[in-house]
Amino acid sequence: MTTLLSPEIDTVGELTDRCDRCGAAAKLEVELASGGDLAFCGHHANRYDADIRRIGRKIRIEEGFGWAGK
Ligand SMILES: [Zn+2]
Repeated sequence: MTTLLSPEIDTVGELTDRCDRCGAAAKLEVELASGGDLAFCGHHANRYDADIRRIGRKIRIEEGFGWAGK
């Protein structure tokens, strides 16, 4: 499945989730086009930026976090 639309990006005050990859505090949450959510710390959000943009329907970024995929 390909999604050509850019995800909607919101900035939020604080995220309470933990990174799904490493358990660090999440800096970015993505709502998947297929349903469900994933959370990423700053390190992993930047590492998977292209994938996050591709699979995301909606992205929430913690305020002050400079995401590489933005
Ligand atoms: Zn992580």
